[in-house]
Amino acid sequence: MTFTPTDYLPYDFANRRHIGPSPEEMDAMLDVVGAKDLDALIDDTLPPQIRAKAPLDFGKPKSERELLHHMKEVAGKNKVLVSLIGQGYHGTVTPPAIQRNIFENPAWYTAYTPYQPEISQGRLEALLNFQTMVSDLTGLEIANASLLDEATACAEAMTMAQRVAKSKAPAFFVDENCHPQNINVMRTRAEPLGIELIIGDPDDLDAEAVFGAIFQYPGTHGRLRDFTPQMQALHAAKAVGVIAADPLSLTLFKEPGAMGADIAVGSTQRFGVPVGYGGPHAAYMATKQAYARNMPGRIVGVSIDAHGNRAYRLALQTREQHIRREKATSNVCTAQALLAVMAGFYAVFHGPKGLRAIAERIHRKTARLAEGLKQAGFDPRPVTFFDTVTVEVGDKQREIMDRAVANGVNLRKVGEDRIGISLDERTRSETIEAVWAAFGIDRKDKDYTPHYSVPDKLIRTSDYLTHPVFHMNRAETEMMRYMRRLADRDLALDRAMIPLGSCTMKLNSAAEMMPVSWDEFALLHPYVPKDQAKGYTQMIDDLSAKLCDITGYDAISMQPNSGAQGEYAGLLSIAGYHRARGEEHRNICLIPMSAHGTNPASAQMVGWKVVPIKSADNGDIDLDDFRAKAEQHADNLAACMITYPSTHGVFEETVTEVCKITHDAGGQVYIDGANMNAMVGLSRPGDLGGDVSHLNLHKTFCIPHGGGGPGMGPIGVKAHLIEHLPGDPVEGEGAVSAAAFGSPSLLPISWAYCLMMGGEGLTQATRVAILNANYIAKRLEGAFDVLYKGPSGRVAHECIIDTRPFADSANVTVDDIAKRLVDCGFHAPTMSWPVAGTLMIEPTESETKAELDRFCDAMLAIRAEIAEIEDGKIDDKNNPLKNAPHTMEDLVKDWDRPYSRETGCFPPGAFRVDKYWPPVNRVDNVWGDRNLTCTCPPMEDYAEAAE
Ligand SMILES: *Cc1c(COP(=O)(O)O)cnc(C)c1O
Repeated sequence: MTFTPTDYLPYDFANRRHIGPSPEEMDAMLDVVGAKDLDALIDDTLPPQIRAKAPLDFGKPKSERELLHHMKEVAGKNKVLVSLIGQGYHGTVTPPAIQRNIFENPAWYTAYTPYQPEISQGRLEALLNFQTMVSDLTGLEIANASLLDEATACAEAMTMAQRVAKSKAPAFFVDENCHPQNINVMRTRAEPLGIELIIGDPDDLDAEAVFGAIFQYPGTHGRLRDFTPQMQALHAAKAVGVIAADPLSLTLFKEPGAMGADIAVGSTQRFGVPVGYGGPHAAYMATKQAYARNMPGRIVGVSIDAHGNRAYRLALQTREQHIRREKATSNVCTAQALLAVMAGFYAVFHGPKGLRAIAERIHRKTARLAEGLKQAGFDPRPVTFFDTVTVEVGDKQREIMDRAVANGVNLRKVGEDRIGISLDERTRSETIEAVWAAFGIDRKDKDYTPHYSVPDKLIRTSDYLTHPVFHMNRAETEMMRYMRRLADRDLALDRAMIPLGSCTMKLNSAAEMMPVSWDEFALLHPYVPKDQAKGYTQMIDDLSAKLCDITGYDAISMQPNSGAQGEYAGLLSIAGYHRARGEEHRNICLIPMSAHGTNPASAQMVGWKVVPIKSADNGDIDLDDFRAKAEQHADNLAACMITYPSTHGVFEETVTEVCKITHDAGGQVYIDGANMNAMVGLSRPGDLGGDVSHLNLHKTFCIPHGGGGPGMGPIGVKAHLIEHLPGDPVEGEGAVSAAAFGSPSLLPISWAYCLMMGGEGLTQATRVAILNANYIAKRLEGAFDVLYKGPSGRVAHECIIDTRPFADSANVTVDDIAKRLVDCGFHAPTMSWPVAGTLMIEPTESETKAELDRFCDAMLAIRAEIAEIEDGKIDDKNNPLKNAPHTMEDLVKDWDRPYSRETGCFPPGAFRVDKYWPPVNRVDNVWGDRNLTCTCPPMEDYAEAAE
C-alpha cells in the first residue's frame, strides 16, 4: 500500500490553528465578498503605494512541539537564583489554586475590559475585592483597579497631587529613600510639565515650597518611620501627601491613612504574582473619597440593574473619564486587571490572619538573619525593620556579592560599600544560611525564634479585611468554586467572539501561553546581573529584530508596558530629538478628531498643545485642514499623531502626503500602531513616513487582554530617534516604566506567535483579518450602513456600522443593540467610538466562518426587530431591545411582555444548550455614580438585593 502525499497541514501548524476559516470556508466567503481570490481582495483594499516592498521572511515556521522545545532551550539560558534584591520586587508564592484557576484559565485571561458590565460581573466582583483590599490595607477610602507599576503610580500620584492641591507651589518633594526607579520615572514625568523635583531627607521637607510630597514606606533600604509630622506640615501648607507603601508590610505597621496621607500607591506584586523580570503586576492607588474624581485608572463601583438588583460596573466613566482628551488627568487605558484579580484572590485566599502570618514570618526570618550578622560583628541597619536590612561591608562588597551568587543568591549592591538584603515569602533556612556563608559566617538557622525587631510606635492598631469575602472557608473546594462561579458570570473569548473594533481580540493560543508560567521566565528579578538573563536577552533581541522587519523601523524599545505608555514614550523621544536640535520650543501636536483618547492625553503629558484636525466626509483626514494647520503652526510644530489604517477602518491613500506635510513643517510623525493587525506583512508604518509607532502586543501579537490588562506597548523608531529612547530605570535617564523591558514575562507569547506563524503565516493572518471584516461588512450590507470604505468599496480589518438612524425610526439606541447582542451570546462591538452612536466591528483572523455567520445572523435578526418597531408591530418602549439583556430570572418569573419568552431569551445566535445567561439586567450607570461605592458592600446589602 502506498500513500499519495498531501499538502494538508496537521493542526500542530499555526497557520491552521491560528486562522479561523478553513481554505474551503475562505472560498465561500470570497464568493460572498465578490473577489476572485484573496490576492484580489487585498489588491482592492490596500493601495499599491503603501504596500511593503518585500515579503516577510522569518525562515521556516515552527510547529507547536518545535516551538516549545526551542523555548525551553532559550528559557534555560536564564539562571534562576534566589533574588533578595528587594527594591520593590519580592519572591512570592502563587497559590496553585490561583495559578491554575485564574492565571492559566482562559475564562479569566481572554476577557476584555469590563465596559459592558452585564457580561463582566465576575471580574468586576474580583476587582472590587482588590479595591477593598487596597482600601483596607492603606486606610484610605477609595482605591482603583489598577495602575501599571509602582513607579508610574508614583508619577500619577505626583500629577494628581498637583491637580488637587490648593497650594500653587511649583515643586514636588521626593523622599530620597524612594526606590531609584520610582525617582527616575517621576523625574521623566516631571520634566516636560515643568515640575521641579526636590529630592531629600523627609526631615528637611519645606512644606511651603511644594504642592505635594512622596515618601517610601518602608524606605528602599528598609527604614520604617512615621510620616505623620510630614503630613501635618504639608496639610498646613495646603499641599498633598503621598506614601508609596508595600501592602504586605501594612498588615503589621501603621497604615498611610492613619498617618494622614492623602494618596497611597504601591505594587501588589508580592501578593502572589511572580516577579517576571519586571512584570506584569498590578500597582495600586488609594485616596480620600473627596479626590475620587481626580484619580487616574479604572474604578469599579456598585450600582443597580433595571430591576433594582445589585450590579457592578466601572464607575465615573463613560468609557474612560480620566482620558478626557487634552484635558486628561492621565492616559492610563490598559492597566493590570488580571494581575489585580490575582492579588485580590491572594488576599481572599489567605485572609487577614494569613497575610499577617506571612508578613510576621518574613519579619522573623529577617530578624534571625540580622541577628546572625550582628553576632558576627556586622552592623545591619536599620535597627528596627520589616523585611529589609542594609549592611556596611567596606571594600568587601564585590567579594561578598560574588560569593552569594556562587551560593545561588543575589544581593543588592548599595553604593560602593553596602549590601542590601530583602527577605520574602519564599525564603527558606537554606537561603539565610547561604547569605551568612557569603558574609563568611558559618551558622545554622534555628527553626523558630520569637524574636522581633519592629518599631513599637508603628504597630498597626486598626482592623483590615473584615468583609466576609476575606473570611470564607479556606477549603480549596470553596476557593475553586468561588473562582469558577465568578468566571461563569463573564463572557470571554473562550465562549464567543469579541468583535471589538481596534482591540483585536484574537486567539491567545495555549502553546503561546505555556512558557509564561515557567520558572525560567517567571522568577527572574528585574535587576539581576545581565549574565543571568541571557535567555531573556536572546528572546528580546530576536523579537525586536522581527518587529523592526514588520514595522520598517530601526530599533525597538520594550519598556512601555501599555499602548498609551508607548505613545508617551514615543512623544518623549520626539521631544528629545527637537531639544537636541535646539528646537525645544516645538510644542504643537496635530491630532485628528477621530483619534483614540489616549493620543491627546499622551500629548498633554509631554506638555504639548493639541490642535485637532477635522475628518472629511469619507472619514479620511481632511487634507486641506491638515495642511492649513501644519502651515499655521510650522514654527512650533512638534508632531502629528495619526492612526493607520485609520480608526475608521480604512487604508487612507493620503497617508504619505500627511507625513510629508508634517516633515516639511519641521514636525515628526507618530503613527499609532494599534491597528497593526491590518498591516503585518503587507505594509510598514516606517515606510509610510512614520518616525515612531507603538505596537499593542496585547492586540496584534496575541498577548491576552486579561479583562483590562496586562499589555505591552513597545515602540519602534527610526534611527534618528534611537538616542532619545527611554533609558534604564535604575542606572539610566528618561525611564517610563519601573523595569527596563516593561512586562517582559509576556514576551514569550508574542515571540512564540511570530515563530510559529513565520513571515508567511503572519501575512496570511493579516489577509484573513481583512477578509473576515469584509465578509461581515458584506453580509450586513443593506441592513446596516457601513460608514466608511476605501475607494474600491472595501474596508480594512474592521468596519463601522451606523445605528444612529434607528433613534428616530424606532427609538432604538446603540446601547439597546449592544445589550440585545448579549441575549444572542455575544460581546458587543466597540460602542460609540470613534463615531458616537455607531458600532465598530473587528472580527480578527481567528474567527471561523461559522462564528462570523452566527454573529451576522444575530445582527440581522436584531435589524428585523428594529424593523418591527419601525412598522409599529411592536411597542417602542416595551420590546426585546429595550428590555435586553434578559436574565434567567426574567425567564422564570411572571411574563407580561408583548413578546414570547423564547423571543426574549433565545434570539438567533443564542445557543440552546450552552446559552450564556447574563447574571444581571441592564446596569444603571448614573445611579452608581450618584451613589458612589467602590468597596465591597456589607453583607446585609446582599440579602436586600437578593429579595
Ligand atoms: C488600544 C488603543 C490604544 C491604547 O492602548 P492601551 O494599551 O490600552 O494603552 C491607543 N490607540 C488605539 C487606536 C487603540 O486601539
